[in-house]
Amino acid sequence: MISLQEVSKSYGQQRNDRLAAVQEVTLSVEEGTIHGIIGPSGAGKSTLLRLMNMLEAPDAGRVIVAGQDWTVLSEGELRRARRSIGMIFQQFNLLQNRTVSGNVSVSLELAGLPRKERAERVRECLRFVGLSDKAEEYPATLSGGQKQRVAIARALANHPKVLLCDEPTSSLDPNTTNDILGVLRHVNETLGVTIIIVTHEMDVVAQLCQRVSVMEDGRLTDSFALQPQNRASAILSPKSYREQLL
Ligand code: ATP
Ligand code: MG
Repeated sequence: MISLQEVSKSYGQQRNDRLAAVQEVTLSVEEGTIHGIIGPSGAGKSTLLRLMNMLEAPDAGRVIVAGQDWTVLSEGELRRARRSIGMIFQQFNLLQNRTVSGNVSVSLELAGLPRKERAERVRECLRFVGLSDKAEEYPATLSGGQKQRVAIARALANHPKVLLCDEPTSSLDPNTTNDILGVLRHVNETLGVTIIIVTHEMDVVAQLCQRVSVMEDGRLTDSFALQPQNRASAILSPKSYREQLL
């Protein structure tokens, strides 16, 4: 579904130091799967995720989404293409001055959907994440888990094929984390959305992912399949990710 081919990305000073945020990463995420990305802080996980929808343009390599090379698209073509990929974040990134409905509606407005269809789609998305009763509330009045549900509803508004998740449960307590993992599983199973999730929580990987890739110092150092019954308990050193999860 998404395939990175020898993708590299450096920022400012890194160009001189020859230390890239992401270095020659080749990775394929299969359609319909839930794929985890783990690794220590600064390893390049968030950068890798932003490369997948070309929010960051790679310095080298190819980003292939559903068979199409996105590195050759114009800005306008990219903006349209990106509607097929939703994204959620650790800090939710909701617009504080808009209601829950207003937040979900944003990407539909940008896509130019007529008002009536927009309202219908917003209702559908909020129903899907179980927040119909919060439609007219503002984000400040919601719990962390509810905010993340709004973010998921917003990410689903344009019927994406892929959902990119950057530490989606890292600001949540264990119960709320389980809640949100349930919503993500539901998104994957009922809508067939491919999910790519960056996390440092081994439990999240063990509960959710069919495949995991490990990043260290900008490089992909391991990638392996997981059985759903596997469970991990704590966070150990990167070297032992595989040992923890298999
Ligand atoms: P964390 O687990 O802390 O979120 P990460 O694995 O997501 O870390 P990235 O945020 O991708 O790591 O960062 C990888 C490297 O690139 C780091 O050295 C970081 O300082 C650098 N970097 C990331 N974004 C930028 C940016 N916008 N400008 C300059 N350097 C950046
Ligand atoms: Mg990060």
